[in-house]
Amino acid sequence: MSIATEPRLVQKLEGSPWEIEGYLKVGGYEAWKRCVDGMKADDVVAELKKAGLRGRGGAGFPTGVKWDKVLNHRIKEHYFVCNAGEHEPGTFKDRFLLKTLPHQLIEGCLIAAHTVQAKAAFIYVNHEYEEERENLKKALAEARTRGLVGKNVLGKGFDIELQVFEGHGSYVAGEETAMLESMQGRPAMPRQKPPFYPTDFGLYGKPTLVNNVETLCNIPRILYKGAAWFTQVGTEKCPGTMMFSLSGSVNRPGVYEMPMGVTIRELIEKCGGGVKGGRQIKAVFPGGPAFSMVTADQLDLQMDFDSLKKAGTGLGSAGTIVIDDATCMVAATLKYSNFFKGESCGQCPPCRMGTNNLATLMAKIEEGQGTQKDMDSLLQLCGFVKGTGYCTLVTGAAVLVQSSVKLFQKEYEEHLRLQRCPFTPAAVEV
Ligand code: NAD
Repeated sequence: MSIATEPRLVQKLEGSPWEIEGYLKVGGYEAWKRCVDGMKADDVVAELKKAGLRGRGGAGFPTGVKWDKVLNHRIKEHYFVCNAGEHEPGTFKDRFLLKTLPHQLIEGCLIAAHTVQAKAAFIYVNHEYEEERENLKKALAEARTRGLVGKNVLGKGFDIELQVFEGHGSYVAGEETAMLESMQGRPAMPRQKPPFYPTDFGLYGKPTLVNNVETLCNIPRILYKGAAWFTQVGTEKCPGTMMFSLSGSVNRPGVYEMPMGVTIRELIEKCGGGVKGGRQIKAVFPGGPAFSMVTADQLDLQMDFDSLKKAGTGLGSAGTIVIDDATCMVAATLKYSNFFKGESCGQCPPCRMGTNNLATLMAKIEEGQGTQKDMDSLLQLCGFVKGTGYCTLVTGAAVLVQSSVKLFQKEYEEHLRLQRCPFTPAAVEV
């Protein structure tokens, strides 16, 4: 693995992000022009497979394989949706990309929709991302005046449209099947998956390519610079860079592009400028609160899909949250338990009841009214609900609690013994 210090996905542009000139100057829309000029869809897919690009929405599924499935599906009516329904706590990298590189995203979407021969193409944007949606619309208008989108693209005799879709404001609506449901005017509730992956059963029940914003922003760069360029950084199985959303107790929270495989320590120290107030690290959520935490002795773990999975946690969408030693872990866990409770769509009974009961028990313990029986029920409940929902929400809620109790058992015991939270109120901040 090599470490690049230069950003590779994010490029510095002259002018406002939606102005096309700045993007054209850095090779923008060159890859799209190649596709318009007749680059074969199979060759595009082959290049993505060669690059080994994996989905940046959180699961790391191979992008080339997904495109291939839609392109070569026996059903010939296809759709394309860019999922910008980002809502994971601690993840804000898609927002950054929408705000700063709208043309790169549009180019990635055009290539994707054209390659899989989509009948219609959409960019589904979280409804809270108002300014970003406006940026995107302005950029689309600029691309249209250049003949890159719309009727008779670059005089080549075919049309392509991209529609910006204002999404639902909930966490679950960002789950791809719930998103597709809501786009058809139905409640934003996930479908059972497998067997209903969007590549087979997507929008209007037809094969649909769904990709995350960051994944799509990588596409023009890979086709323009080549797969060999892309794989120069990152790890063998997870090439390229990742946009890390770094938050919590660091001096410089923000979005940082680093090679896949960067260590947690490098991310916190080099990018985040170390821990706030010179305090010690107590825990880190490397991939957001739906994956297990790691502790201060694990900071040399590499951050990529495979290394973190092997370590018993996950990269997810790389929403890295740092927690310092002044924080009460029971309070921090309760905060996210409440998030999961509030965001459960209520469709699957184990999730509806499980997230609610987990949050209730956590609150009881944090407030100093917990008993050993509550602790036992808490862990038993985690075991019952894990893996039961149509989506991963309830599993995330259970993993959060299990990991917190396992790593910080003593703090839970202190809450039971003292019958109060041993930390000051300020300590709930993470
Ligand atoms: P998943 O593993 O079910 O699927 C990942 C992607 O690969 C999906 O697009 C899915 O359709 C596709 N896929 C998987 N197997 C396939 C197959 N056999 N054939 C065709 N396509 C296939 O994961 P998921 O439930 O879509 O996502 C879970 C992840 O999302 C979690 O890891 C979490 O980190 C992340 N997440 C991200 C956000 C965010 O805001 N970015 C929010 C919540 C969760």
